[in-house]
Amino acid sequence: MLRSFVVRSRSIAVSRRLSTIALTSSVTSYPTKHTDKGSEPYLTPSFAQNELVKSASETWYDIHDPATNQVIAKVPQSTPEELEQAVTDAHEAFQSWKNYSIIKRQGIAFKFVELLKENHDRIAGMIVLEQGKTFADAKGDVLRGLQVAEAACNAPNDLMASSLEVAADMETKMVREPLGVVGSICPFNFPAMVPLWSLPLILVTGNTCVLKPSERVPGAAMVIADLAAQAGVPPGVLNIVHGKHDTVNKILEDPRVRAITFVGGDKAGKYIYEKGTSLGKRVQSNLGAKNHLIVLPDADKAHFVNALNGAAFGAAGQRCMAISVLVTVGKETQQWVEEVARDAAKLKVGSGFDSTSDVGPLINPECVSRATEIITDSEKAGATVLLDGRNFKHTDPQFEKGNFLGPTILTGVKPGMRAYDEEIFAPVLSVVNVDTFDEAIELVNSNRYGNGVALFTQSGAAAQKFTKNIACGQVGVNVPIPVPLPMFSFTGNKGSFLGDLNFYGKAGVTFLTQPKTITSYWRTSEVEKYLKPSTSMPIQN
Ligand code: NAD
Repeated sequence: MLRSFVVRSRSIAVSRRLSTIALTSSVTSYPTKHTDKGSEPYLTPSFAQNELVKSASETWYDIHDPATNQVIAKVPQSTPEELEQAVTDAHEAFQSWKNYSIIKRQGIAFKFVELLKENHDRIAGMIVLEQGKTFADAKGDVLRGLQVAEAACNAPNDLMASSLEVAADMETKMVREPLGVVGSICPFNFPAMVPLWSLPLILVTGNTCVLKPSERVPGAAMVIADLAAQAGVPPGVLNIVHGKHDTVNKILEDPRVRAITFVGGDKAGKYIYEKGTSLGKRVQSNLGAKNHLIVLPDADKAHFVNALNGAAFGAAGQRCMAISVLVTVGKETQQWVEEVARDAAKLKVGSGFDSTSDVGPLINPECVSRATEIITDSEKAGATVLLDGRNFKHTDPQFEKGNFLGPTILTGVKPGMRAYDEEIFAPVLSVVNVDTFDEAIELVNSNRYGNGVALFTQSGAAAQKFTKNIACGQVGVNVPIPVPLPMFSFTGNKGSFLGDLNFYGKAGVTFLTQPKTITSYWRTSEVEKYLKPSTSMPIQN
């Protein structure tokens, strides 16, 4: 069965005469520095029939290295024919892939994990080059995705059926079956983690996938796709397409795509959720955020200052779980902000390939301009710029055009100012002061987002009150970025999530499968009749 499938798929690839593009990296050779000036941009391949294929598109978007703003690669807008073929391939491959035994799919998942581990640095290098974050942080990006892939190896347990004898000799069994083709649409800020939030579970549960990486950072996803093929995922099961709205609309509108997992901003996520669900698809949509950290006067100050700096300025604030609002409770904690600013000023802004850098560039110049504008507008509205990262200039000429913004701290921020109301997605921390703990909880609860929140305190009673009363999906006590490991799910809520079932964990498996109940009746009283030997010739047709 497997052999005939593979042979047939290869013949499809051959008859389509796909021209291929090799990956530039390997397990031992991958980006560790910025591309030399004047180098020819790399043409990002698509992934079809387990081949890295060159798109026939006439529209190619530039990919810039955010640290230099040099064009380092191009990514195609996949053509309508390529998009149609990707869904067709995924749909056809589903017929065979869903019948792979769970043990076989688990074996492929184990191999995939092994290959991800071997290629950890390689994928991180691709991320630094295209996305800009520091190498250490990029390794964390890969690790958090790898952990989802590891958890996916538990599929035999996750997919275990339940059964019950519901009447004499009658049994009902409930199994969970895959849906079919699942579309995955990814953002720029976690080029490996987000594709890996969905891909391993989509595949191990027996679905097939059409994945669209962010058009700004497709490189890591291409390596991941190649590793999936090496791990034994058959041709057609995983397809990577590229581009912007046209690609998203194809995934949304094709009736063969049964479910969509989306991670990104509010505008695209709301559109995809509303259109996808109106067309009868399951959609899980992780959106924007504004994450608060509340600090009480009894907190461990040194721990608080360290944790806040990492959570606010790490990844240049381009994390959906970054702390972007500090809520100081009372007068004393207000004084601590000076210490936060003192340490933040020491963070080194620079290239992600420089091991001494703490804060890399933003993804593009527009993000720097927008963040700068929000800081200036909020200053005009009454906020104080305690630490100013505007007009940061790198002293090395190689990076003079990089999209850098230094860590910035605004104090005296209030709801109604842009710095509080908007997701800035940059290394900008807004400080709001309140008099009481209740006011702090009320502030968080009235915010439209509900991705993450943290409380720093040494009081168990305060922590208990906080965890019970806070309206937010991922809650940390003395933990600034409380992203759960994949034995749980990623549980953002309110305006940070649209859908019913969250990413990965039990909810992820439920999202990607549908229940089927089978009720059987085998009368034990008739066992004698069937077991009695018969010596006569059968007479029925
Ligand atoms: P984005 O919404 O601009 O892009 C995400 C994806 O949607 C991309 O693949 C893009 O091509 C596509 N897209 C963009 N605009 C579209 C449109 N109008 N119609 C259809 N498709 C469209 O997001 P981004 O800038 O890449 O990522 C940053 C955002 O993602 C931030 O808001 C961040 O909070 C959010 N994010 C959320 C989570 C989470 O789990 N809640 C995780 C990571 C990032």
